[in-house]
Amino acid sequence: MAQGRYANIIIDISHEKVDKTFQYKIPEKLLGVLEEGMCVLAPFGKGSHLRQGYVVEITEKAEFPDHKQKYIEDILRDSVPVEADAIRLAAWMKRNYGSTMIAALRTVLPVKRSMKPKEKKKILRRMTPEEVRSLLGESIRKRQWAKARVLSELCSEPVLPYSLVTGKLNVSPATLRSLESEGALSIESESYYRNPVKIETAREGGKQLSDEQRRIVEKILSDFDAGKRSPSLIFGITGSGKTEVYLSLIEGVAARGKQSIMLIPEIALTYQTLMRFYKRFGDRVSVMNSSLSAGEKYDQYERAKKGEIDVIIGPRSALFVPFPELGMIVMDEEHESGYKSETMPRFHARETAQELARIKDAAFVLGSATPSMEAYYRARKGEYELFTLTRRLTGGTLAQTSIVDLRKELKSGNRSIFSRKLQELMEERLKKKEQTMLFLNRRGYAGFVSCRSCGYVMKCPHCDVSLSHHTGERLVCHYCGYEAAKPARCPSCASPYLLGFKAGTQQIEEQLSKRFPGIRVLRMDKDTTGTKDSYEKILTAFAAGEAEVLVGTQMIVKGHDFPNVTLVGVLAADLSLNDSDYRSSERTFQLLVQAAGRAGRGNKPGEVVIQTYRPEHYSIIRAASQDYEAFYKEEILYRELAGYPPAAHMMAVLITSPNEKKGEGLAGEITRRIRELTGGGKTIAAQPSGFPAVKIIGPAKASIGKINDVYRFVIYCKSADYRQLTVIKDKIEQYVGTLMPGEESVQFDFNPINSY
Ligand code: ADP
Ligand code: ZN
Ligand code: ZN
Repeated sequence: MAQGRYANIIIDISHEKVDKTFQYKIPEKLLGVLEEGMCVLAPFGKGSHLRQGYVVEITEKAEFPDHKQKYIEDILRDSVPVEADAIRLAAWMKRNYGSTMIAALRTVLPVKRSMKPKEKKKILRRMTPEEVRSLLGESIRKRQWAKARVLSELCSEPVLPYSLVTGKLNVSPATLRSLESEGALSIESESYYRNPVKIETAREGGKQLSDEQRRIVEKILSDFDAGKRSPSLIFGITGSGKTEVYLSLIEGVAARGKQSIMLIPEIALTYQTLMRFYKRFGDRVSVMNSSLSAGEKYDQYERAKKGEIDVIIGPRSALFVPFPELGMIVMDEEHESGYKSETMPRFHARETAQELARIKDAAFVLGSATPSMEAYYRARKGEYELFTLTRRLTGGTLAQTSIVDLRKELKSGNRSIFSRKLQELMEERLKKKEQTMLFLNRRGYAGFVSCRSCGYVMKCPHCDVSLSHHTGERLVCHYCGYEAAKPARCPSCASPYLLGFKAGTQQIEEQLSKRFPGIRVLRMDKDTTGTKDSYEKILTAFAAGEAEVLVGTQMIVKGHDFPNVTLVGVLAADLSLNDSDYRSSERTFQLLVQAAGRAGRGNKPGEVVIQTYRPEHYSIIRAASQDYEAFYKEEILYRELAGYPPAAHMMAVLITSPNEKKGEGLAGEITRRIRELTGGGKTIAAQPSGFPAVKIIGPAKASIGKINDVYRFVIYCKSADYRQLTVIKDKIEQYVGTLMPGEESVQFDFNPINSY
C-alpha cells in the first residue's frame, strides 16, 4: 500500500496527454484506502467541474503549497472504462517490478496517438442507367472522351473503384468533380483498416476432439460459466493437441460474446500457426507483433475496441490490446524465456497476464510441453488447475534415446565432435535417405571452463555456480565477485585439458564434410538467419529434402515438423548446465526434451543421441527418459534448499554508472541500507514477526561489468515473501530519489531470467 497524502492524477486520459499529471490532496476518508490505479472524481479546470481521473501515484511530496491544492472528491466505483484497466495494470507493474509509472504506461498503452485511418474512395452512380446513357451520348457528341469513358462504365456498374477510374480509365479528378456537380455520380470515401497479415483461406471447422481434449475444453468452459477463475495449466507433449484445445476454447469464449488474447512466443509465430487461426476465425482474428508499423498496430487496437475481432495472436505485447470484454488469455509455451521483458518495466507475461485476467475477470489458460518450474509449482500447490494431454495425435512414437559419455570417447581416442555412436547412426540415415538434425547447445558457451578429460567444472567456492573465464586467465564468480587464477591443470584429475568448449555450428559443418564427403548440410544460427525470411527458407529447404543434415542452435528445436527426420544428435548437452544461473538445469532439461521431440515425427521411429560430459546429471537423465515429473521433483528440492524461485523470490538491483568508483559506492550504500532495513538480512523491521528472512547477496560486479563504458553492479535479495522485496524496492527508490541527479541509475529485476 502506497503511503502519502497526495495523489498524482491523470485526468480523463482520452483527452489529455498521458504524461501530464495533476496533484490533489487526499481527503481524510480516503487516506489508506486510495490506491494507485484507482479511478476517482476530482474537480478540474476553472469551473472545478468533477472529472474522472486515474491515480498514477500516491506520494508524500507536495508539488504546490498546500492551500493551493484541491481535494479529490471520491473514488469512482462503477463502470470502469477500458483505459482505467490499462492504468490499473500499469500501476500494478510499477508496484511489482519497479519502474517509473510513465514507462509502465507506455508499455500498456503502446499506441497513444490516434492515427488517421487509411481511406479508399469509390464512385457511386447517382442516376438511372437510362439517364447515364443519354448523358453518355451527349458527351460523345461534344467529344468529351474522358467523361464518356466513366459514363460508359457507369451504364453497367453502379459502383466503381476510384483508383480504377483515375488510373486505368485515365480520368482526371476535375472531370469527376464536374460529373459530380451535374448529379451523375458521387465520390465517397470509405475508411478501412491496415491489415498486417493477409491470409486468404477458406474457413474450416475444428477437428472432432479426442476424449482427453474434450474433457479439458468442457471443464474450462463450464468453470468459466460458473465464474470460477483459477488459471489452468495444460501439460501435453508437442503434437498432443494443445493448439486444437486453445482453438475450441477461444471459439467457446467468442460464442459467449467475449474476446481472447492468444499469446505465443515471437519465435513460434509461424505461418502454419497463423493459418490454423485464420482457418478457424477468418477475419475475426488479427495479429500483433513487433514488426507492425504504428498505423497497423493502431488499427488492430481500433478493431479490437470496436469488437470487430474475437482473438488477437501475438507475443507479450498482445496483452495490451484493449478488448471491450476480454474473456480469456491463453499463453502457449509458457516456459519460454521470451515472455520476460528485458527492458523496464521488466515484467513477465505470465504474472502480468494473470493480473490482467484478474482485473478483467477473464480466464487464464497456460500450456506447455515442458512447464516452467513456476507454473508446475503453482499447479502442485493448487493455484493452477492441472490438465494433461498424454497422447501424440500425429502418430509416431517417442524416440529411443541414448546418452553418450564424452569423457569415455576421449579416453578411447576419439577426439572428434561426433561420438562413435552418432557417426554410426548418421551413416545409417545416409544409406536409408532419412534426415538428421544436429543440435548444438550454445548457451553458456562463452564463459565456463571444464575439464575435457573428467568433466570437472570450475566452480565458485561460495555460490555453487560455475566460474566464468575472463581475460587474463582469470576465473570470476558473477554472483559474489570471487576471483581466482585459472589453474593449469584440472584440480580433480590433474589433466591439462582444462578448457572452454569451443565449437560453433560452422566448425560442425566443416567437420561433417570431412567425415562424410559430399554430404549436404544446412546451417541455422544467428549468422544465417539475419532476416525472418531466411529462417523460414532454411526450414522449407530442409523439409523439401535439400540437405541430409540440419545443424543449428536452439532455433532448430522449435516449430516445423519434419517427418523424414529420424535422428537427432545433441552435441554438447551439458553446455547450458554451466550458465552461472540457477535456471540452468531447467533450461537444459527443456532444450533436450524439445530437441528429442524432433525425431520420429512421421511414421518412422526416431532415435536421439545425447552427447555429454555429465551423463550422471539429473536434467540429462530425466530428459533422456522424457520424465518431467522426476525432473521436477529433483529440481524443486534444489530450489527450495537454495531459496531460488519459485520456492522463494529474488530481486536483482542493478546499479549502473559511467564512474566506477561512484557506482561501487552507491551499490555499497544501497546494500548497507537494505541490511539496515532488514535487520542485518533477517527480516524487515516494520513487518510482523514470523516473516521469512531476507537474504542479501552482494554487491558484486555484474557478469558483464561494463557496457558502453558504463559500469554495472548488482545486489541480489532473496525472500520467500514477494511483498518484502517490493518494500525494499520502494525504500531504495525513495532513497535514490533523494540523491542529487547524477549519472547513476538503479533498476530492479524481479525473478530474473538471466543473471546479471
Ligand atoms: P500441440 O499444440 O500440442 O503441438 P496440435 O494441436 O498442434 O498439438 O495438434 C497436433 C496435430 O494433431 C495437428 O496436426 C492437429 O491438426 C492434429 N490434431 C489435434 N487435435 C486433433 C483431433 N482431435 N483429431 C485429429 N487431429 C488432431
Ligand atoms: Zn561466488
Ligand atoms: Zn579433470
